[in-house]
Order: sequence, then structure tokens, then C-alpha cells
Amino acid sequence: MNHLLILGAGTAGTMMANKLRAKLDEAEWEMTIVDKEKAHYYQPGFLFIPFGIYDPERVTRPKADYLPDGVRTLWAEVEKVTPEERTVRLADGRELSYDLLIIATGVTPDPEETPGLHGALWYEDAFDFYTYEGATRLADKLDTWKGGRLVINMSEPTIKCPVAPLEFAFLADTYFTEKGMRDDVEIVFTTPHEGAFTKPIASKALSSLMEKKGIEVVPDFYLMEVDEDEKVLRTYDGKEEPFDLLVSIPTNKGADYVAESDMGDVEDLNFIPTDNHTLQAEHYDDIFVIGDTTNVPTSKAGSVAHFEAEILEENVLSYINGEPLTASFDGHANCFIETGFGKATLIDFNYDTQPLPGKFPIPGLGPMSLLKETRLNHYGKLAFEWVYWHMLLQGRHIPVPTHMSMMGKVPEEEADPELVAA
Ligand SMILES: Cc1cc2nc3c(=O)[nH]c(=O)nc-3n(C[C@H](O)[C@H](O)[C@H](O)COP(=O)(O)OP(=O)(O)OC[C@H]3O[C@@H](n4cnc5c(N)ncnc54)[C@H](O)[C@@H]3O)c2cc1C
Repeated sequence: MNHLLILGAGTAGTMMANKLRAKLDEAEWEMTIVDKEKAHYYQPGFLFIPFGIYDPERVTRPKADYLPDGVRTLWAEVEKVTPEERTVRLADGRELSYDLLIIATGVTPDPEETPGLHGALWYEDAFDFYTYEGATRLADKLDTWKGGRLVINMSEPTIKCPVAPLEFAFLADTYFTEKGMRDDVEIVFTTPHEGAFTKPIASKALSSLMEKKGIEVVPDFYLMEVDEDEKVLRTYDGKEEPFDLLVSIPTNKGADYVAESDMGDVEDLNFIPTDNHTLQAEHYDDIFVIGDTTNVPTSKAGSVAHFEAEILEENVLSYINGEPLTASFDGHANCFIETGFGKATLIDFNYDTQPLPGKFPIPGLGPMSLLKETRLNHYGKLAFEWVYWHMLLQGRHIPVPTHMSMMGKVPEEEADPELVAA
């Protein structure tokens, strides 16, 4: 009997368990999945909790309900992987061996990485919304906050869902406007990137939307420390931003066991070096990596995990059959961006093509619009919750192509002549 072991039963691990249990003969392949936490969080829902749009209970369900029969589930923390011996040690002392390993342990915000962030101000005047607890506590804070300088800060350039901080800024603008206190709140968005987003055309579009909504964007802001006494953010090059209320996106790191196993990349963030196309771990043929914990150069997002899962299913089956790994991931990412007042925009891109304007998924018809604020995009974002729980986690087919398509997109040269010329 062969043993397929999956580490992490979040978005990506759950999809892979469902997809592969349906494909692998139970008489030949035993499957186990390990996770340290029994609750599955619908993380995109964290965005809506601070503004009272979602109740916290809405985003959490038991992980076990989404895992298939025929897969053994172990609730334990992974402590170390020893690829040379094909073993995994759990924190409770158990040791598991594997023939094939899939790593899907994601990334977690770590406020302790920034001096002063996780100190006296934490959950008093400094919050995150990337965790269940942070989003819930921030909801209580915003409910009674009297206004002042709200600073949204990304500690590091690489975070999961890189558009969520922008969405937070847009929804904050809506929230305070609807509460009749927008004039009492200054919203400032500080980012280590050169603009509101990493890719030029989307960055330009989103920056001008920010400006239109009276949200100040402070680019090239590389956070060094939070001064708790002065309530000031400081960068390595001496910039300062004072705040009354800080909404932080702390450093996003892969799991500690990645470093303990000496499997992380050079940046010390515990992302695992992964082949950009096959999703095989760079140094180990019998290990595949999926989701946020890879170091592949595209967004860390549930949509990415979904497209990767389609590729990985094929490549794992090829690997098992001793065939070449022909399925190739193109970096496809697809994200709705809430822009406030019941509208959203949409971006669709991959390793080679930046987000472009146009229609999606049907050329000319849409019904979704790329890089354009529409009500339908907003409904698309809300509908994603249903798709996530009822289709995506189960590994069911979703009618969006795995590879990014140029159909319906305005070519880069025509999208924004001024910018492309620059
Ligand atoms: C605020 C917010 C908004 C977002 N919005 C969107 C959106 O609109 N669209 C979108 O596509 N994506 C969005 N995302 C991103 C999306 O949720 C993630 O990219 C996706 O969940 C990644 O899946 P994953 O399986 O790699 O990681 P996760 O789903 O985080 O799963 C990792 C699992 O590994 C487990 N684990 C970790 N370490 C260990 C260990 N040592 N031992 C055992 N188990 C371990 C964890 O408990 C967890 O269950 C958002 C994220 C946030 C925080």
C-alpha cells in the first residue's frame, strides 16, 4: 500500500484531498491529511467582519465536513519534515512516513516580526483583519471609534490576497460615509510597493480610484518599527506616519516547521521553493507544494490555489504513473476587488500578462468587467462565498479556464498608451 500525505487542510489541502481521493484507487493508495486546527475559515469573509457586513460566525465551519471519506484526518501540528527519510514528525510525537507528500500549510500573519507592533497597542489602537480574532476585535473598535487618522499598513510586499488592504480602505471610506463621520476620518494607505498595486496598469487605475475617494496613498513605505509611545510608523529610510488607529497587515510567514526542516527560501519567510509550472518542490521529486506556502511569483490567493489544484491533480497522477509532468501552471490569478458603495472591480492575470481592462469571462459580453467598477462585479464577489463552500473545496469543476485567456481583454499596448509608452 502506498501512502499519500497532505499537510494542511485549508483551501488547497482540502481541494487536493477531494480531487485525489476521487482518482486514486483505495486499494493502492492510503491517504492522510494533517491540520493543527479543526475550524475552516472562509478568509475572504474576514474583510467584511470589521464593517458589520458579516457576522463572525458566518465565516467558520468544521474542516471535517469538507474532507472526503477514505482520507484519514489527524488533528496535530506538523513539527518537522525529513525529506531524505520521507517522514513527517508531529508535535504530539507521532511520526508519519509517506511515498508522496503534498504541502499546503499556507501563510499566517506574524505581528511579532515588526518591533513595537505586537505590544501595548495591539488590539487597543493597532489591529489586523487577516485573522478571525483580529477582524472581530476590529469590528468592536470601529463601532465606537470617534474618528481621527486611520493608517492602513502592509508590513511586507508579499502578503496573501494583496488586494484585501485596498478593499479595506475602500470599505472604510463607505463605512464612515454611511455613518456620517467621513469628514472626521483621514484614511491613509501605506505600502512598500511603488503604487496601490504591483502591476502598472492596475496600480494606476486603483491609485486614481483611491484619490477620487480621498484616500491618501503613501508608496515605497517599508516599515521598520511601530513607535508605541508616539503612535508613529517608521520606515528604514526615515519616513514617519502618525496614526490614531492602525490597521496592519503584518508580515505573512509560512509555518515554522518549514525553517526547522530547512526547506524554506532565502527570504526567511518560510515560503517553499517550488517549480513555477509543475508545482513540484524544487529539491524533492516526491514533494509537491500548493497554495500560499509556495514561492511562485503570482498572488497568494484562493483563486490561485484553485487553478494550481487543477494542474497539480494532473501532475500528481502523472508522477504516480511514472509519466512526465506535462500540466503547466501559468500563474493565473483572478480577484474581485470591493471598491465600496456596492461596487467592485475585477482583475485577471498570470506570470506574463498584467491585469488588463476588458470583459470576463465571455469576450464582449462579460458579464463581469475587468478593471472597471460595477455592481455585477460586487455580486460576483458575494457569490464567491457560495462557490467556495459548495464547489471549490469539494474540487468540483468551476467554469473558469485554468489558464488565463487574452479573449475579451484589451491588449496592453491599447490599454493605457500613456503608461505603456512610459
Ligand atoms: C482578509 C483576506 C481576504 C482574502 N480574500 C480573498 C479573495 O477575495 N479571493 C481569493 O482568492 N483569496 C482571498 N484570500 C486568500 C485566501 O484565503 C488564501 O490564499 C487561501 O486560503 C490559501 O489557501 P492555502 O490552502 O494555501 O492556505 P490556508 O487556507 O490558510 O490553509 C493552510 C492550513 O494549514 C494549516 N497549518 C499551518 N501550519 C500548520 C502546521 N504546522 N501543522 C498543521 N497544520 C498547519 C492551517 O491550520 C490551515 O488550515 C484572502 C485572505 C485574507 C486573509
